[in-house]
Amino acid sequence: MSKHVIDEAKRCLQCKNPRCKMGCPVSTPVNDMVKMLLEGDIIKAGEMLFENNPLSSVCSLVCPVEKFCEGNCILNHKNNPIQVSIIENYISEYYLEF
Ligand code: SF4
Repeated sequence: MSKHVIDEAKRCLQCKNPRCKMGCPVSTPVNDMVKMLLEGDIIKAGEMLFENNPLSSVCSLVCPVEKFCEGNCILNHKNNPIQVSIIENYISEYYLEF
């Protein structure tokens, strides 16, 4: 598993009111996705992502994340938001190849 993806996931604060999710037009459950990944439930995370958004894999590549999830991440106040797109892309691609 990609160390960079895991390192990014570990930086997530698991906000109770996740601004990343609220800032996403399709309400991608970023905090739950990260939690499942860190708990080793990558397939469950993939199922959840695709149930929420069948275009999860595409969106992880083409979404203007600086306006949506990453732009709304609480860690933006330090100009260091969680790189949600690389985490979503990793999980989505893994799930599609499973
Ligand atoms: S706002 Fe940022 S730190 Fe908070 S749950 Fe979302 S990705 Fe994690």
